[in-house]
Amino acid sequence: MEVQILGSHVTEIAGARPTALVIDGILALDAGSLCSGLTLDGQRKLKAVLITHQHYDHVKDLPMIGMNLAYYGCLDVYGIAATFESLSSHLLDGKLYPNFLQWPESQPALNFIRLKEYERITVAGYSVMALPVPHGVPSVGFHVTSPEGKSLFFTGDTAGGLSGCWEHISPDLLITEMTWPQDMDAWARRTTHLSPAILKTDLLEFRRLKGYLPRIVLVHLDPARESQVAAEVAEVARELDASIALGREGMVVSV
Ligand SMILES: [Zn+2]
Ligand SMILES: [Zn+2]
Repeated sequence: MEVQILGSHVTEIAGARPTALVIDGILALDAGSLCSGLTLDGQRKLKAVLITHQHYDHVKDLPMIGMNLAYYGCLDVYGIAATFESLSSHLLDGKLYPNFLQWPESQPALNFIRLKEYERITVAGYSVMALPVPHGVPSVGFHVTSPEGKSLFFTGDTAGGLSGCWEHISPDLLITEMTWPQDMDAWARRTTHLSPAILKTDLLEFRRLKGYLPRIVLVHLDPARESQVAAEVAEVARELDASIALGREGMVVSV
């Protein structure tokens, strides 16, 4: 699997885009930068997108990719029922922009498919399982396994406390979030995001349960605090003898 990072940040500024990843050019994870990160051809090659949760920085480009696909094709959008309820009553409700879940009438550009947690399904040739993760709104992470048997787990946004996920998976690559530096640990806990210390606790639990640590890539970075986070994460990597990299727009990770 080749995982292209389109967006590895919590927000959008010149040079930094919100969360979106693409596996082998066809299966996207979250939609924070599917349009700003992909050419029109790249967008039209996508077969499906898996949405972790409803927060704007993860769904932002759904209406615009709907516009780019209208009268061309249909993109399957997978997510849990709570995500669908939120999208269909706010972002894709037809008030500010066309509702691409229903338009064009001949073939709507977006087709939402409700996922059940813990159910393993096949999406675009990959085996996919959604696992619930703690966050401020109903959220899932995705375990994606290639036909060759390589796998990754993308947590999306999370407060940590992921041992319930670790019991179900043994990924080769873990892509998770890192939003706040250590001096904002209390804020991280309040806003249900990770800090370096929370990440370290979850990785120690992973190693206790599984006997190894996968390669780790962090996204959802705050551009204003990235250098501080980089230094603190490097220290966690040294303490755990782990491979932890900060995601960058344009980075390709081979699994
Ligand atoms: Zn979120
Ligand atoms: Zn987010």
